[in-house]
Amino acid sequence: MAPACSPTNSLHVAVIGAGAAGLAAARELRRESHSVIIFERGTQVGGLWVYTPQTEPDPLSLDPNRTVVHSSVYDSLRTNLPRECMGYRDFPFVPRNDDASRDPRRYPSHREVLAYLQDFAREFNLEEMVRFETEVVCVEPEGQKWKIRSKSSDGIFKDEIFDSVVVCNGHYTEPRVAHVPGIDSWPGKQIHSHNYRVPYPFKDQVVVVIGNFASGSDISRDITGVAKEVHIASRSNPSETYQKLPGSNNLWLHSMIESARKDGSIIFKNGKVVQANTIVHCTGYKYHFPFLNTNGYITVDDNCVGPLYKHVFPPALAPTLSFIGLPWMTLQFFMFELQSKWVAAVLSGRVTLPSSDRMMEDVTAFYAKRDANKLPKRYTHKLGECQVDYLDWIAEQVGAPPVEHWRAEEVHGGYRRLATQSDTFRDKWDDDHLILEAYEDFLRQKLI
Ligand code: FAD
Repeated sequence: MAPACSPTNSLHVAVIGAGAAGLAAARELRRESHSVIIFERGTQVGGLWVYTPQTEPDPLSLDPNRTVVHSSVYDSLRTNLPRECMGYRDFPFVPRNDDASRDPRRYPSHREVLAYLQDFAREFNLEEMVRFETEVVCVEPEGQKWKIRSKSSDGIFKDEIFDSVVVCNGHYTEPRVAHVPGIDSWPGKQIHSHNYRVPYPFKDQVVVVIGNFASGSDISRDITGVAKEVHIASRSNPSETYQKLPGSNNLWLHSMIESARKDGSIIFKNGKVVQANTIVHCTGYKYHFPFLNTNGYITVDDNCVGPLYKHVFPPALAPTLSFIGLPWMTLQFFMFELQSKWVAAVLSGRVTLPSSDRMMEDVTAFYAKRDANKLPKRYTHKLGECQVDYLDWIAEQVGAPPVEHWRAEEVHGGYRRLATQSDTFRDKWDDDHLILEAYEDFLRQKLI
């Protein structure tokens, strides 16, 4: 199905989504002389970072026919990575001292990230490639090419043929909800963090937050200011866990919930019982490609999207179908940029992929290693500790330098502080020497 790319190939490429991944992809594809159209169902660039107070009518977002609100950003959100390491490599995310409305903090608010992405789009004239308010509803093979069916905001459907499709639709919109025994008869309210914006609706309530990673930790602290009590349930904690957390007088950490009862009580595995008003599920999201029709070749099984060579290319459909941005717990924007360079260079024929069989062998070996390490399928795309190896590998494919020392150290230290000092990590740190190294690097490369 995939056309053989000759070294000067200039293809007609569709990018789905104008978030941080789609913008990076479009920029790199155009740099490699491809013609690009970005389909974006929203009204502006920025994807997830376009904050809206609007939420979905169904607070758990379980109804498949609901009106989808894309962003999961809450009002108080600040970045969970230091800005120097968070930006694209050749367009650093540095404070804009020429504009008083901007947030100069090292861990700025979500508004600053959106402003940065708008700067990026403006700097490289990316908006001219975007078709706003145009949702992709179907992507399917058509001979050696791809047919895209889109729907504009005035309800008009359009079919178009592209040589290649790059999927950048984001993966923080379709909630995963924890299964709690007895929940069907529990009388309280439930909401997923996708639909959390501000703490005020939780005033004077007893709230149970499920999940203690970035959003769970942030949202529980956000709510402590107005709620009577906040109890975090975390499945990664040993069953005896029961701890009052520093920084507020009404926040407790527990092990996972054992069950919910019809009298309104929640019983934790540590034996503690609370009468709760609301459960907030901060339990992550599902990869979701409702528009993709590959006759069953690409599947999403317990959040493992596959088969994908290095999380990007489906072997039998490569290189004309690709995915940017699936791995998580990594330097997102930096990774988007590298993956995009790889896709653009493979499409132009400047870089070649192994044969489909060899790519499939690699995928099979990767799954075998995951299973041998007893990692659940849902962690297939979690990079974490191995992120620098992954990013360096992609960099090598496209002749880009490996991850800088300061960037690798910042992200490791950043995640460590996030886990161990979740109440203070955005305002207290011990790595000023890395900030200095980063800025010396930006100056040396004349990036600032
Ligand atoms: P998105 O930003 O979600 O963009 C996808 C775009 O695709 C959207 O504009 C959407 O409208 C469009 N789209 C979707 N489907 C269609 C369709 N069918 N047709 C047309 N358009 C479509 N990362 C960090 O680096 N630092 C952080 O501090 C950080 N904090 C985060 C906090 C939260 C609460 C969450 C959920 C994530 C956070 N992330 C953070 C990760 C974040 O997801 C990435 O940084 C990044 O913004 C994702 O970009 P994306 O382009 O992949 O997806």
